[in-house]
Amino acid sequence: MTAYLTIRDVAKSYGRATALRRIDMEIARGEFLTLLGPSGSGKTTLLRILAGLLEPDRGALVLDGRDITRSPAWERDIGLVFQNYALFPHMDVRGNVGFGLEMRGIGGAEAARRIDEALDTVSMRDYGARRPSELSGGQQQRIAIARAIAIKPRLLLLDEPLSNLDAVLRQSVRVELRELHQRTGLTTVMVTHDQVEALTLADRVALMDGGELLQIDPPERLYECPASAFAAGFLGSPPANLLSVEPHSEAGAIRLCGALWRPTGPAAAALSGLRGPARLALRPETLRLLAEPAPGAIPGRMKAVEYMGGERLAHVAIDGAAPGTPALLVRGAGALADPGQLVYVLPGSVTGVFDTDSGARLAPAQAGV
Ligand code: ADP
Ligand code: MG
Repeated sequence: MTAYLTIRDVAKSYGRATALRRIDMEIARGEFLTLLGPSGSGKTTLLRILAGLLEPDRGALVLDGRDITRSPAWERDIGLVFQNYALFPHMDVRGNVGFGLEMRGIGGAEAARRIDEALDTVSMRDYGARRPSELSGGQQQRIAIARAIAIKPRLLLLDEPLSNLDAVLRQSVRVELRELHQRTGLTTVMVTHDQVEALTLADRVALMDGGELLQIDPPERLYECPASAFAAGFLGSPPANLLSVEPHSEAGAIRLCGALWRPTGPAAAALSGLRGPARLALRPETLRLLAEPAPGAIPGRMKAVEYMGGERLAHVAIDGAAPGTPALLVRGAGALADPGQLVYVLPGSVTGVFDTDSGARLAPAQAGV
């Protein structure tokens, strides 16, 4: 990949609070990258550094072959969209969308043409004379996006642009954002704490925590082959079950949350190299619930079944597990729905085995996925 945007060794602290430890990232031309992570992980800080609103303490930014680390924001040609729309209330829609053009000395017919084009892109051509207060939240956010793209930015940066919208609107604007990206080919970096947004929109997702980049990968790979226990436990709804495993003196057996278990198939393969305590990630949708014992199945007792609409989520207490072990979550519980019932949980695949202390991936090897 030839990098269009390179972020090299970037760090940032606010006084004694470290927001970014050391960020290295390369983004390709035309890529849609999402920055995903819990609140406080440093996403906004990184985006503001890209925009030129914040100066990094250390490191460099190179955009399209040019070092922009010390360039002022206005020189970078960046389109910015924030969570709270930030439209000028006293200006109509056309005035808002044309604001960046005016700042760049573009007026007259050229400005009118670009405003039309940007409004068309977000399907808001007929709203040009309205004030922001006369628009819904979703429409205001579309105008904010139109304003950002009207200048034909070299980089489109979005910080939680859908967070203020209700769930239905969020989904439709999400689809529009993806279409907009496909039509314009703008290199886009979007901050979100919402994994669904991150996975559905991005070519690649950069997962952040505690001011560090944990993993940067296409959505499928991040989900199916997480590099860390944190990633396995952050993505998915509900996220992967993380179960403590230890070698057992008996050949082929494993201590699973303290209970004896004889895995078969992919689980046996993933755990074959186990030398000490680790954590096993099993996604709820890869588990099968059986009424009868079967080789490789984990015996347990149904604790509760939640009806989710269309499918059920079963909470299974592993037989013989150490006190305090959380229930094993199984998605798609089907007819086995009686609390108290004995059940057997069969893993269909293994999302990963991770080091207990560092959380680093031990198995299966990433290259194999
Ligand atoms: P995110 O967008 O992922 O929620 P931020 O980049 O906003 O994270 O914040 C990263 C860390 O930096 C957090 O611990 C936050 O409290 C801290 N932080 C952010 N902005 C400031 C600020 N202006 N002054 C002091 N600390 C800040
Ligand atoms: Mg933020």
